[in-house]
Amino acid sequence: MTITLNKEMLQMKNMIRNFVEKEVEPYAQQIEEEDVIPQHLVEKSKELGLFGISIPEQYGGIGLNAVEKATVLEQLGRTHNGFVSLISAHTGIGSTGLVKLASEHLKNKYLPEMAAGNKIAAFALSEPGAGSDATNLTTSAVKKGDYWVMNGTKHFITNGPIADVYTVFALTDKEKGAKGGITAFLIERDFPGLTVGKKDKKMGLRGSYTSQVIFEDCIIPEENVIGEVGMGYMSALKILGEGRVGLAARAVGSCGKLIELSAKYAKERIQFGKPIADNQAIQWMLADMATETEAARALTMMAAQKIDEGKKVIKEASMAKLFASDVFNRVADKAVQIHGGMGYMAEYPVERFYRDARITKIYEGTNEIQRLIIARNILEVC
Ligand SMILES: Cc1cc2nc3c(=O)[nH]c(=O)nc-3n(C[C@H](O)[C@H](O)[C@H](O)COP(=O)(O)OP(=O)(O)OC[C@H]3O[C@@H](n4cnc5c(N)ncnc54)[C@H](O)[C@@H]3O)c2cc1C
Repeated sequence: MTITLNKEMLQMKNMIRNFVEKEVEPYAQQIEEEDVIPQHLVEKSKELGLFGISIPEQYGGIGLNAVEKATVLEQLGRTHNGFVSLISAHTGIGSTGLVKLASEHLKNKYLPEMAAGNKIAAFALSEPGAGSDATNLTTSAVKKGDYWVMNGTKHFITNGPIADVYTVFALTDKEKGAKGGITAFLIERDFPGLTVGKKDKKMGLRGSYTSQVIFEDCIIPEENVIGEVGMGYMSALKILGEGRVGLAARAVGSCGKLIELSAKYAKERIQFGKPIADNQAIQWMLADMATETEAARALTMMAAQKIDEGKKVIKEASMAKLFASDVFNRVADKAVQIHGGMGYMAEYPVERFYRDARITKIYEGTNEIQRLIIARNILEVC
């Protein structure tokens, strides 16, 4: 499939690629070791407008459409996935609810600071008892006069420890449950009754923090409801659907980087008196890596294009997330194999990509759940 980018977008793509290669990559190892993203990279990301890629221009962002956003995220996926996670959780699931579903008042109040990167966003749906089955959430919000009172615990929340604003889903009508009884709220970090847990220790995604977010009689102004009361579950599905395309784009970018690293290593590494790249076994791995990556890119861009055309995209977004994350894991595995023992060493980036690939099959809906969504869509129409 052919994606035609306009001149400005081509410039932006090149600018992000340059930023990633020249400014972020030199710090990738440091991020990995120290579990901290250097502040100057955050500041540079703000300057480049990266925190506002999905926020419309009228609210201070650069308002990219879905194809353009996927193009940027693919470039970002070429570098440290923890660094990218900070930005993509903010611009994706953290912002989409506000951008697509909130009142003008909420948009004007929060989006400009979010677009500038001065307020970091997070998305809080998962709970200890409600992961794949998000309909089972127990966090509740009860209306008292002109405010809501929320109680409950969210967990594994990306940007949880550092966010300023959270899109949070809570039961507002237990009887109705997911069918009209879940509501989305925009909650500020400083609202009374909100605390964040300690940073989770994870397999990878260093520099990106997750934690619990706890609500104990948290007071939320009435105006901070996102969308309609009771329609929060539909909102969550919409937000996650678009987020999945972004996740797929990042995975495609990481695959591209892994292919380049592997090809370079295979040409340099001499065994049996010749570069290992001369062996058909290595060439076949590279060929499969590249073929699957192109297929993942096509699926991702097709889903993004459908979003831009205003079409229903649930199935395609799930397909893109499922396929691109599986491909990322297969490509990372082959990249480690091509690097031999060096691929297992922390000083080589493929080791980090291999660990960071794993989460893409789990978060924003596991790949088993993506298969359920795809199958349900097929069964509905056939
Ligand atoms: C690093 C990280 C960051 C995250 N960031 C966020 C975030 O920002 N916001 C947020 O809300 N959540 C976030 N999450 C939570 C994430 O979305 C959930 O972990 C994920 O949805 C899976 O839920 P679970 O962990 O409870 O697994 P479970 O739902 O307990 O699933 C366990 C296993 O059972 C399988 N399974 C469950 N039900 C079925 C079924 N019906 N059919 C077949 N298989 C099934 C699953 O696929 C999985 O393999 C994050 C998680 C991690 C680890």
